[in-house]
Amino acid sequence: MEEDEKYIMKTYGRLPVVLVKGEGMYVEDINGRKYLDFLAGIAVNNIGHCNPEVVETIKKQAETLMHTSNIYYIVPQVKLAKKLVELSGLDRAFFSNSGAEANEAAIKLARKYGKNNGIGEGEIITMEHSFHGRTLTTITATAKPKYQEGYEPLPRGFKYVSFNDLEALKENITNKTTAIMLEPVQGEGGVYIADKDYLKGVRDLCDDKNIVLIFDEVQCGMGRTGKMFAYEHYNIKPDILTLAKALGAGFPIGATLAKEEIADAFTPGSHGTTFGGNQLACASAYASVSIVEELLQNTQKMGDYFITKLKNLKDKYPFIKEIRGMGLMIGMELSFNGGDIVKKMLEKGYLINCTSDTVLRFLPPLIVKKEHIDELVDALDEVFSEINE
Ligand SMILES: *Cc1c(COP(=O)(O)O)cnc(C)c1O
Repeated sequence: MEEDEKYIMKTYGRLPVVLVKGEGMYVEDINGRKYLDFLAGIAVNNIGHCNPEVVETIKKQAETLMHTSNIYYIVPQVKLAKKLVELSGLDRAFFSNSGAEANEAAIKLARKYGKNNGIGEGEIITMEHSFHGRTLTTITATAKPKYQEGYEPLPRGFKYVSFNDLEALKENITNKTTAIMLEPVQGEGGVYIADKDYLKGVRDLCDDKNIVLIFDEVQCGMGRTGKMFAYEHYNIKPDILTLAKALGAGFPIGATLAKEEIADAFTPGSHGTTFGGNQLACASAYASVSIVEELLQNTQKMGDYFITKLKNLKDKYPFIKEIRGMGLMIGMELSFNGGDIVKKMLEKGYLINCTSDTVLRFLPPLIVKKEHIDELVDALDEVFSEINE
């Protein structure tokens, strides 16, 4: 920890724990203490820690071939693309290394397609409480001054409206608008779920006006909400979809998927990456996606169970303002900053998170069982019972 303080740039406020091992629902610290993980590396370890099948796949691929660059054909990349195309109903994939990069590709693709087809002037509408990453363009897409301050000048061409407000969106669409980008379930912003009518309305609006609809499912995708992609709950489809976090089960990988007509705007040389889509990352993701497919039912069931139990807590403690959740993406809004609760839970041996100051966020691996949820909720109950608010 001392050497971290000395050698690492101070971008993170770390919790005082050094995790060195993991298995399934648990991680272990350097002193051999176990923690029940209800954060999953921020919605990354959806299949749990060190899944033996994925570990074996990575080992084998590492021994065989890790990287060749995109100058050559890459077998695991094609396999993964085919799988994601079949699952999503979109037509083509581009692979990168993170969520921010997946969104950068989506933004570039939408603009290029717009330019080729005379749709708007490259302006993209995003939502309040959104989060799209930390590159200069994606902090600009992220409608939060906190992430933008000090980094000006920012790229142009973004406009923000409030989430779940179809009228506000309609009023802000102009002949400059090329795309609308949103998270069907907002993660960092505090677990806000798009209303059914709203998302359907956004789709209709985009169809009417020929605007590109981008869903950022970096956090809510890959089974997190109980379906492979959150938009499946709404019976609609985006034109462009971005994925990352859980896609590689811990191995860094991002993906941008798009409909054929839009994907065609990328031509040789128009976008690229050195690492993106390499053999090792894609083999890891392919193995992981197949496991997630088997966990969707458990995710729905355990999500409902967990939300019910959290609602029982809400009846007991007036400082719990709201429980919001879909599948195993769950937020508990408190009337005060939740940072201390996270610390107290860590001391008790539980990893949870707080986002947007007041929202406790629960993102357990999708392999979670009832007994884990019971244990977590009991611990939370104990911590809450010591609070005088
Ligand atoms: C985490 C996140 C990102 C950024 O992903 P990185 O891999 O950190 O670049 C983008 N969008 C959403 C919705 C996210 O949750």
